[in-house]
Amino acid sequence: MDDADDLWAALVEYTGEVAERLQDPAPAAVGATWAIDESVRGLPSWMNSELAYTAGFAIVSWLIDRVVDIAELRMNDAEEFLFSLIRKLQSRYVLDPIERPAHARTCSVCGERAVVVSWVSDETGEASCRVCGATYAPDEDEDGASRG
Ligand SMILES: [Zn+2]
Repeated sequence: MDDADDLWAALVEYTGEVAERLQDPAPAAVGATWAIDESVRGLPSWMNSELAYTAGFAIVSWLIDRVVDIAELRMNDAEEFLFSLIRKLQSRYVLDPIERPAHARTCSVCGERAVVVSWVSDETGEASCRVCGATYAPDEDEDGASRG
């Protein structure tokens, strides 16, 4: 069982419990997993990474829509388990830079407003220009580009 399976199982189990306690049918992807396997073991074999992303997105949206009701369930242990797993995996994998155009800074090398943080975990990490590739240390502002 790999990390994706672990995370999928934790998310589906949590969502399944929420659905049961709220008496609100869970998204289809969760149902499909339950139907295949009484206890969730991981990503269904037919699910490729693109489908997993779509299904994960659907599940998370479903949870967000019910966040007020979910808070009242007080599933603290289940949530702590799920969130600590997410934090652990986040620190294990280098994520693709997340584009946040509103926060892009102006590059002092090429002048494009294209400097974004390529964050690895807990929002610290090196920033780099998406146009010319100039890099910036975490706390440097646009005047401190390393020019090689
Ligand atoms: Zn640049």
